[in-house]
Amino acid sequence: MSEERVLIAGAGPTGLVAAAHLAHAGVPVTVLEQGSDLSEESRASTFHPPTLDMLDDLGAAAPLIAQGLKAPTFQYRTKKHGLLAEFDFAAIADTTKHPYRLQCEQSKLTRILHGLMQSHPNFEMRFDSPVAGVEQDDAGVSVTIERNGRREAVRGRYLIGADGASSAVRRSLGIEFEGFTWPDRLLVVSTPFDFFSIIPDLSSVSYVADPQRWYFLLQIPGLWRAMFLVNEDASDERVQTREFAQSLMAGVVPGVSNYEIAHITLYKVHQRVAKSFRQGRTFLIGDAAHINNPLGGMGMNGGIHDAVNLASRLAAVWHGEKTEEIDRYDKQRRGVTLEYIQKYTIQNKKNLESSGDEFGASLKAIKADAARTREYLLRVSMIASLTRASELG
Ligand SMILES: Cc1cc2nc3c(=O)[nH]c(=O)nc-3n(C[C@H](O)[C@H](O)[C@H](O)COP(=O)(O)OP(=O)(O)OC[C@H]3O[C@@H](n4cnc5c(N)ncnc54)[C@H](O)[C@@H]3O)c2cc1C
Repeated sequence: MSEERVLIAGAGPTGLVAAAHLAHAGVPVTVLEQGSDLSEESRASTFHPPTLDMLDDLGAAAPLIAQGLKAPTFQYRTKKHGLLAEFDFAAIADTTKHPYRLQCEQSKLTRILHGLMQSHPNFEMRFDSPVAGVEQDDAGVSVTIERNGRREAVRGRYLIGADGASSAVRRSLGIEFEGFTWPDRLLVVSTPFDFFSIIPDLSSVSYVADPQRWYFLLQIPGLWRAMFLVNEDASDERVQTREFAQSLMAGVVPGVSNYEIAHITLYKVHQRVAKSFRQGRTFLIGDAAHINNPLGGMGMNGGIHDAVNLASRLAAVWHGEKTEEIDRYDKQRRGVTLEYIQKYTIQNKKNLESSGDEFGASLKAIKADAARTREYLLRVSMIASLTRASELG
């Protein structure tokens, strides 16, 4: 294998977007994935408008849209007040080719990208290749892969760590992952139950504030996902039982209980940002660089924005631009992660934990003013984060 390539650790959504972008831009890539196949894990299910615009450039938006559900509106409710406000992305249709959230699992995107790229001459994929160590010098990066007790070295000109929250690349470089872990855990319960039939005027994306037990409902093809934060002392084993899940689901619609449950999954929730997104010839993107609570669906989306920002800069440098071009990646993406993604995901959590009185009043004021509605939708859709990133470097 030629050293004249970019190595990418991790074939999640962010690693594969970076790989596809670079390969299309004429830069050879090798993706090193620890698993023997792409992950099946059901995590992100929301794609925001500018992310779909970026995926369109890679030929991946149309097949993804064909497998997902378009959600042109989203809404906030409380158990006490019912519907507080509904927003429609039509108000920002002049800023994006995709004025809706797409509800679709991230595992569909990775399969689409892999399918599109696997015969591309600049794209190489290696499964069963866990990256265990990184060393770099002035000319390139050497990565150690450990498999069945054997070590193998792979070398490239640059390395992108897209290997998720426990990133071996980040650890190997000793980059701190600053922030904290919430004591609450996130319980995701999915059900084929038809909530449209019993909740009037429901959107496919609906956040319900409540000081005791807030939750949100997201529709994906064939299922609804109900997400709850679990802050009681109950053990992980106990909260993943059907009885516990049914007790939470019984609070969603008064009088409805005993749901058909398809999956129950428990996640830890963190707010962490790597101290640097770059060290020498190695870069961090996606969950390797930052993790946050899922309120607002900004983790994977922000990670895909990292991937596109970095890949376009690396491609420019590969083809002769000054290397300073790459310095802007850390400034822009780390800056906007702190200023925007961390700030608003924490704010979103506080809003849902509230009684909804103040939060509801502020939403009504935004709805009553067309300019504020537009500004709000640009923020929620993450378009404002991209504008802000471009101002930072
Ligand atoms: C319940 C839940 C809901 C969520 N909903 C949303 C949402 O709606 N919208 C949103 O934007 N985000 C959401 N997120 C966050 C989103 O899932 C992550 O931000 C996203 O998966 C990050 O993608 P990634 O490619 O950076 O990392 P990952 O998806 O974690 O992929 C990392 C890849 O690297 C591989 N790997 C790991 N270690 C190594 C190694 N040492 N060597 C080689 N390969 C390695 C892994 O096998 C994996 O394939 C949600 C998260 C959860 C838990």
